[in-house]
Amino acid sequence: MAAFSIRQYGDPVLRQPTQEVEEIDGRLVRLVEEMIETMHEAPGSGLAANQVGVQRRLFVYDIGKGPRAVINPRIVESSGEWTYEEGCLSIPGLSWPIVRPGRVHLVGIDLDGNEIDIEADELEARVFEHEIDHLDGILLIERLDEDQRRQALKVLRERSLEAVRP
Ligand code: ZN
Repeated sequence: MAAFSIRQYGDPVLRQPTQEVEEIDGRLVRLVEEMIETMHEAPGSGLAANQVGVQRRLFVYDIGKGPRAVINPRIVESSGEWTYEEGCLSIPGLSWPIVRPGRVHLVGIDLDGNEIDIEADELEARVFEHEIDHLDGILLIERLDEDQRRQALKVLRERSLEAVRP
């Protein structure tokens, strides 16, 4: 069983911007391990700390090259456009074609405190953009156009009604 349950759409923790990590200690290392386990089990290609209820600025990701953690991530440059059918572990079962920059330059630090500096494109860039949105308290819903959003909110509303039905 996964270490964490993933917070779902409607949980206020997903709307709160996270706080920078000041110290990398054993607790943080354990948190990262458990987040990776949770991401793999979901399965997903990225997971932000606030998706498991922890208000810290870090995410884990794995796009098939092994899991990595990025602490205090920041996109310092982005360019181009790329459309990708994007989903979110906090809004399961739904996805939309979303246009975002196709290339990003990401900086942060790893679990050993070393600087991370990655020029990413396509899927890797998309994961970075998506997870950093989470860390800023922004959900995929806010990246939809008006029609997509109206449909999405209708589905989510119906789901929450089903959830409270006896
Ligand atoms: Zn997400």
